[in-house]
Formats: sequence, structure tokens, C-alpha cells
Amino acid sequence: MAPNQILENVKKRNPNEPEFIQAAQEVIESLTPVLEKNPELVRLKILERTLEPERLISFRVTWLDDKGEVQINRGYRVQMNSAIGPYKGGLRFHPSVTPSVLKFLAYEQIFKNALTGIPMGGGKGGSDFDPKGKSENEIMKFCQAFMGELARHIDHRTDVPAGDIGVGGREIGYLFGAYKKIKNEFTGVLTGKGIGWGGSLIRTEATGYGLIYFAENMLQNVGDSLKGKTCLVSGSGNVAQYAIEKINQMGGKAVTASDSSGFIYDEGGIAGDKLEFLKDLKNNRRGRIKEYADQFKGSTYHEADANADHNELWTIKADCAFPCATQNEINEKDANNIVKGGIKLLGEGANMPTTIEGINVIIDNGVMYSPGKASNAGGVATSGMEMMQNYMGQNWTSEEVDSKLQGIMKNIHDTCLAAANEYGKPGNYMAGANIAGFLKVANAMKAQGVI
Ligand code: NDP
Repeated sequence: MAPNQILENVKKRNPNEPEFIQAAQEVIESLTPVLEKNPELVRLKILERTLEPERLISFRVTWLDDKGEVQINRGYRVQMNSAIGPYKGGLRFHPSVTPSVLKFLAYEQIFKNALTGIPMGGGKGGSDFDPKGKSENEIMKFCQAFMGELARHIDHRTDVPAGDIGVGGREIGYLFGAYKKIKNEFTGVLTGKGIGWGGSLIRTEATGYGLIYFAENMLQNVGDSLKGKTCLVSGSGNVAQYAIEKINQMGGKAVTASDSSGFIYDEGGIAGDKLEFLKDLKNNRRGRIKEYADQFKGSTYHEADANADHNELWTIKADCAFPCATQNEINEKDANNIVKGGIKLLGEGANMPTTIEGINVIIDNGVMYSPGKASNAGGVATSGMEMMQNYMGQNWTSEEVDSKLQGIMKNIHDTCLAAANEYGKPGNYMAGANIAGFLKVANAMKAQGVI
């Protein structure tokens, strides 16, 4: 079937799933030259098969809040593709979670995991549960109820979830405890665990660090580096915090951070005590980003405007931009502002933070662009390393994990460039990531027969 017919079919089969259709469209369009060169993959309908989840599990999560009231949420796990390894991908707890959001995340995860070179299939899961404003006790109760159902569908050789938006070290702890109690076994069924009970050093830092290692590789490829570069970062969670930390370590300057209420701009740079304040605010006190501007003179707070057609954050003049909050946070107008602001590199830390129209503006204007499935793969790569340590009963040092992470990010970078070159899209990291990730999975699917 021709790529445009495949896309039409995806639209027909998945009505009301705009995020999934968007993720599918990006991949389908990139793969046109691959399908032309490989008629066998067309005959076997490999691309069409990747677009259908192997299994989509939906379940009720019922729990009692602090007032003794019954609360009902929806839980999901999308087991998208297991051609090259056990399903692997995070859990997201956020009110915006729907099957469409999780299917787009699981779809991206297939190719991202393939790019890491570690044998991991693609999956994603989560719930429409909103952790904001919940007590510690309520978070624990919810995690236990959620795992009460999820436990029957996962196993350390079958499906290994991790964290994502709303699921950090605290939630992984409660989820792991619940799984261990239900199954009466201690295995590496989740990654992102604490140090001392199966976790890996550097896992917390890995996505943000990996993003910046990837950007440094892109810049070095054109004879430049991050040193002295002013960077815009969105988000203030796990990925954003460690992206900012690594930008500082590489001699750059991060001047913005945001949450769903608004963003702060600190021309002097978010570094040292200021970065520690931000981490404490978000990880321990779970406060709003406005407090940063109240605390540090010289920085300003800008409230988010839900009705605006653009985000002011992306109008600030800088050298690099790293969206690290959520999907579709850069639209076409934002992308035009990024070009006007003189940005030379846009590296995605979040998953699918740029709309298709936004990506076209960025690439057409010669801004170097890396898609999340390549540049944020450091997190899942280090989860893969956590799984290996769990299987072998070993604990690797920070230096070992960090050095492997740097090697993996360089390898993904080089693989994307090589695939893009081979298929006539030189310098296009998006095409390269989709092509290289797809070919690895496609070859495994071909070998395993029609299943
Ligand atoms: P966190 O929950 O730690 O942080 C998310 C951040 O994004 C918070 O600052 C949050 O603000 C903000 N945010 C979330 N939703 C929205 C929204 N709808 N509008 C505006 N801001 C929003 O998540 P992570 O840092 O882990 O994840 C961030 C992105 O990175 C996601 O796209 C995730 O899928 C991706 N990612 C994460 C990996 C990981 O290892 N953690 C690995 C690979 C990708 P607020 O505090 O107000 O909620």
C-alpha cells in the first residue's frame, strides 16, 4: 500500500486520536524512500503492522481518598511492539492521558528503543489520575490500586515500565512495593528504582544529560560546541532540571524554565544555588515556578495564557532551544518566533513537543533539529542499563553508566546521520531516526514471520 493510503487508513481506524495520527504521520512520511527501496517490507505490511498495538489494556482503578470517598480513574498499558525485546516505556499520570496520547508515546518508543542498540520493544502506560494537590497517602493508595491491576500484565521479561510525567522516584517506589507484595518476588520489573533497591546511578539524570550530549554531538558535527551558548529550556521536571545542569557543565547558559502555570526568564542563568532552589521547589515542595522569580531578583515571571496563539518563552533571543515539558508545546507560530530569535539548534527533550507544521518551519529555515525519539533516548537507554544490572545482579559506578550513556548518544547521533544520508535526506535527523529505528524493528518482524 502507498504511504498516503496507509496514513488514510490510520486516520479511518483511529478517529478522535489526533496525537497518535500526528506521530504516525511523521513516521509514515519519513519512510517513503525506505518502502520504495524495500518492496518485501511493503508486501509483508510491516509498517501497517507497527501501527496496530500488539495489545491495548484498559482498566478501572478504584481507591479511597483521605476523606474516605471512593475515587475512580482509568488505567492503561499499551504494549505496542515486542519484535526486538520486552515492551519498555514509561507510565504517565496526568489528567490529559487518553488512549491517543499513550498510543503516540508507545509508537515513538518503538523507534527510540531500537535506536539505543539495547534489545527493548515499545510500550507506554498511565492514568488520567492528577497527582497535583494529592496527599502523600493518596499518591500511595492510588499507586497501589493501579499496580493491583497492572501487575497481571507485566513481568521483568515481558514488559518493564518506568516513569514519565507525574511518575518520578516516589511513585516508582510505591508501584514497585505493590508489585513485590502481589507477586512475592523481587525482580527488575520497573526501572527508575532507588539506589540500594535495584536502581541505577545516573538514571535520574539520564534523559536531560543525554539530550545535551546529543546536542553537543550535533554542534561538533558542524565544528561548533555548546560553550558560551544561551539556551531556552521549557519544563521544570526531571528532564528540564538535568538538561539545565548539563548545559551549565558544558559551559552554556540556560535562561528559562516553565511549568503549566507559566515560565521564568533569568538572564543571568539558572545555575548553582538557583538550580538547587528549582530542584527543591519542584521535587520536594512541589510548588509553582513563580516562586523562583519571587526569590531571585533579576528574573521575571510570565503567566501562561491559555488563549494566546503562541508562547512568549519562544520569543526570547538565544542560540539553542530545548523543549522539555510536553507534547505540542511549539506550534507553527512559536517555530517562526524561534527562527526570528536566531536559534541555531532545537533539541527535543520532551516527546513530540513540536507540531508537524512547527517542524517544517524549523527545518525549512535551516535550524538544526533533533526529534525526541533520538535526543531524549538517554533515559530509556539508561533504563536498559538498569535492566542489565538487575539481570546480572551488579551495580555499575556513575562513571561507567555516564560513559556508556555518552557512547550511546554519540552512536544514535551517527546512526541518524548515516541513515539520513543513505536515503537522500542529508542532515535530517528526523528522517534518519525514523528510518534507522524502523529498519531495525522491520528486519526483526520479517524474521519472526506473520504473527
Ligand atoms: P515531569 O513530570 O518531571 O515534568 C513535566 C514538566 O512539564 C513539569 O514542569 C510540568 O509542569 C510541565 N508540563 C506537563 N504538562 C504540561 C502541560 N500540559 N502544559 C505545560 N507544562 C506542562 O516529567 P518529565 O520531565 O519526566 O517529562 C517531560 C517530557 O519528557 C515528557 O514529554 C516526557 O514524555 C518526556 N520524557 C521523559 C523521560 C524521563 O526519563 N522522565 C524520558 C523521555 C522523554 P507542572 O509542574 O505544572 O505539571
